[in-house]
Amino acid sequence: MLLKLDIKEIHVKLIAVVMCLIGIILFAIAPFLGKRQMESAIRKNQIHKICSVNSQEIDWKLIVLHHSATEEGNAAKFDDYHRNKRKWQHGLAYHFVIGNGTLSRDGGIEVGPRWKRQIHGAHAGKMKINKIAIGICLVGNFETTGGPTEQQQDSLFHLVLYLCKKYNIPIDKVVSHKQLLKSNTSCPGKNFPMEAFKHRLAKTLNEQGLI
Ligand SMILES: [Zn+2]
Repeated sequence: MLLKLDIKEIHVKLIAVVMCLIGIILFAIAPFLGKRQMESAIRKNQIHKICSVNSQEIDWKLIVLHHSATEEGNAAKFDDYHRNKRKWQHGLAYHFVIGNGTLSRDGGIEVGPRWKRQIHGAHAGKMKINKIAIGICLVGNFETTGGPTEQQQDSLFHLVLYLCKKYNIPIDKVVSHKQLLKSNTSCPGKNFPMEAFKHRLAKTLNEQGLI
């Protein structure tokens, strides 16, 4: 009787130890297992927050991609230039600026006051287009140096995907600055991977049954 009880007790203890071990192992590897999903979930949440506005939303029809044509920069620096040198009343011409790790975080998305206030940009050349076009600028010169960083491309992808879905903007209305003007700009530079970017966008929208 005593022996039987002991064996039972040993079994219970063994099971407890094994359960503990499994728990510890799962706890240790969980961050690696779920990392990708967690990252994109966080990014989705962040972009939703970033894109929140303070006034009535414009019915945006177009997304225009730019580079800053400078090696470094951030929203504050471009705002200062547009406001004080170009004398544009509303400052920063773009709605969003994506940093390259120089004066802001690599891949960090900065939101301009024009977005928060939902007013036209000053990036597309013509007011008629500025009134319906969301302007996104990536810091860097993709004409004379390399292309955007991985982080910049990833943030741009998630931002554009979100905006396309939110405003029902079709993929052929995501354009580069030079596509729009068809003239004297190379913006966002020959090293900006437009084709690959749009391919990734189309693939994701397709997978989600949106095109
Ligand atoms: Zn441009």
